[in-house]
Amino acid sequence: MNEGFPDERVLYQAACHCGTVRFALRLSDGLRSARRCNCSYCRMRGAVAVSAHVGDLEVLQGAQALTLYQFNTREARHYFCSRCGIYTFHQRRSSPDQYGINVACIEGMSPFDFAEVPVSDGVVHPRDSADGKARIAGWLRYDADPAEDDD
Ligand SMILES: [Zn+2]
Repeated sequence: MNEGFPDERVLYQAACHCGTVRFALRLSDGLRSARRCNCSYCRMRGAVAVSAHVGDLEVLQGAQALTLYQFNTREARHYFCSRCGIYTFHQRRSSPDQYGINVACIEGMSPFDFAEVPVSDGVVHPRDSADGKARIAGWLRYDADPAEDDD
């Protein structure tokens, strides 16, 4: 942080479904960072995530309700609300200085706002691949029903 310089990035408000957990964040690369992942956990969770530096996310309320889930290498830290079960954010294994944040938790945002979202290859994880590079496994596309445009 550059003390004395205003942070001009948007400060987003976010919450889980029941509202017990509330947090605020600034994105590290805006909405361009939106993606999904095909690893064994993310394919079940099904959320679109955006990225924030760990120092740019603050839990404002309900930290005691957050439950930590870890598996396999136990490096990534996946948090969800113990009351409503909604995934809020996770500390990435690929970049421990980054959180992935559930876009559906961010006020006014929906996973269906994105016409296409890259799916990161989490099966061949960048930390396990020979060259350490992140790969795209594919794209998830969403076509809104044309009738919805009349709203
Ligand atoms: Zn909740």
